[in-house]
Amino acid sequence: MNTKLQELLLEYDEPPGNSSQWNDWRWQLKNALSNIEDLAEIFSFSKEEVEGLKRVIAKYPFSITPYYLALIDRKDPRDPVRLQCLPFLEEVAQHSRLEDDPLGEEEDTVIPGLVHRYPDRVLLTLTNICPVYCRHCTRKREWRKTKWVRRPEELEEIYRYISLHKGIRDVIISGGEPLILSTAKIESIFRNLRNIPHVEIIRIGTRCPVVLPQRIDEELVSMLKKYRPIWLNTHFNHPREVTKESAEACDKILCAGIPVNNQAVLLKGINDSVEIMTKLCQGLLKIGVRPYYLFQCDPVSGTAHLRTPIEKGLEIIKGMRGFTSGLCVPTFVVDGPKGQGKVPLQPDYIIGKEGENILLRGYKGEIFAYHNPET
Ligand code: SF4
Repeated sequence: MNTKLQELLLEYDEPPGNSSQWNDWRWQLKNALSNIEDLAEIFSFSKEEVEGLKRVIAKYPFSITPYYLALIDRKDPRDPVRLQCLPFLEEVAQHSRLEDDPLGEEEDTVIPGLVHRYPDRVLLTLTNICPVYCRHCTRKREWRKTKWVRRPEELEEIYRYISLHKGIRDVIISGGEPLILSTAKIESIFRNLRNIPHVEIIRIGTRCPVVLPQRIDEELVSMLKKYRPIWLNTHFNHPREVTKESAEACDKILCAGIPVNNQAVLLKGINDSVEIMTKLCQGLLKIGVRPYYLFQCDPVSGTAHLRTPIEKGLEIIKGMRGFTSGLCVPTFVVDGPKGQGKVPLQPDYIIGKEGENILLRGYKGEIFAYHNPET
């Protein structure tokens, strides 16, 4: 393994050092862990384990930034950060009910890089590269492809399409990780989108605040600030990811006038309990991030070991609603197959009717009558 990386990881086990390299996002990207020999050395894998994992990464490669790697407790095989980024043998187990693209994004791709499913919004994918490949990713089908970044001529086609479709008022920029592009490239995309009069808002889907907070630097946020209104959605899944660095990254974005919302994914053995989800969402509010969605993990090939029953999500929402502030409770959603869209799910609070009253169940489980005026 890169000895400098080894030294910095050791340093990070103590209080993190102030290394200028460590704080440089390009250094973090350049030194992202992506080969099995380095991984085996860090986690002391046996030869047999390495052979098994080689089969996994032939299908689903891995990449872990030094920053995110340093969050792992390497003595704990069930560490929640580890489970999100290290390859696991279960990913290549056969499962007939799972698909590469269950949401049907490829069917709704109107031109390369643009998914147009809903009338007023489009999804623009800029690259298939990510600093960390999350094992539960909905787009893990992309990882096997050669690495790509949207070419200028493809972007021109995208701007033309959006200009011609006047109903599009919301553009969601995603990936892969859109913020791995240079600030100058991102600015050119924002400038072009802002030149289209009917585009009202631009959203960014990024996991950088969680896995590469160094990317949220002054240059990036002062550029983004010029193109507001922008909404940024990020993806924290566990309270351990809420660190001093991630808090600083979110604070920079918020200070630029860009709201930050979180879209967590419910993951078995990682955040599937009332206690952990409450701690995560309360931790997010403390750093100014609004818990927005809690997604049921999509039925994507290679994710069976991380998926929970839908009842688990309902149980978590029931255990949070009323016990902590409403701002803290995300909306639990299932993303329907083949473009059905998001379906919000919540525990049943309506018990029935009794005369002019509706019978409701309160958060403590008590049933009460509530007068229901006629229309
Ligand atoms: S950062 Fe997002 S797109 Fe990239 S691997 Fe993770 S979940 Fe998938």
